[in-house]
Amino acid sequence: MSESYTPTAINQTGSDTLRITWKDGHESLYPVRNLRLACRCALCIEEGTGRPLLDERNVPPDVRPVRISGVGRYALGFEWSDGHDSGIYTFEYLRDLCPCCAAG
Ligand SMILES: [Zn+2]
Ligand SMILES: [Zn+2]
Repeated sequence: MSESYTPTAINQTGSDTLRITWKDGHESLYPVRNLRLACRCALCIEEGTGRPLLDERNVPPDVRPVRISGVGRYALGFEWSDGHDSGIYTFEYLRDLCPCCAAG
């Protein structure tokens, strides 16, 4: 994994935006609800088939992370205000989700 895909700072900026600053200086601004919907844990995505199990309508519009913790040296674990806490987002996945990088 590229070293640059390592967050150096994570800040909630306002109620619905999470900012991650990366080692290469890049700044990603994520609408937090989109991050919640992008969860790929076994409760949100069916293992094997990749079928989405999460119904977007069950996620509150004002959902936000209540706790973000490091998982090893490769990922972040999110605990959400809707009670969901099994999501692990690898740095690489988070960087892929960056709205401003998605186009390229
Ligand atoms: Zn999940
Ligand atoms: Zn970006």
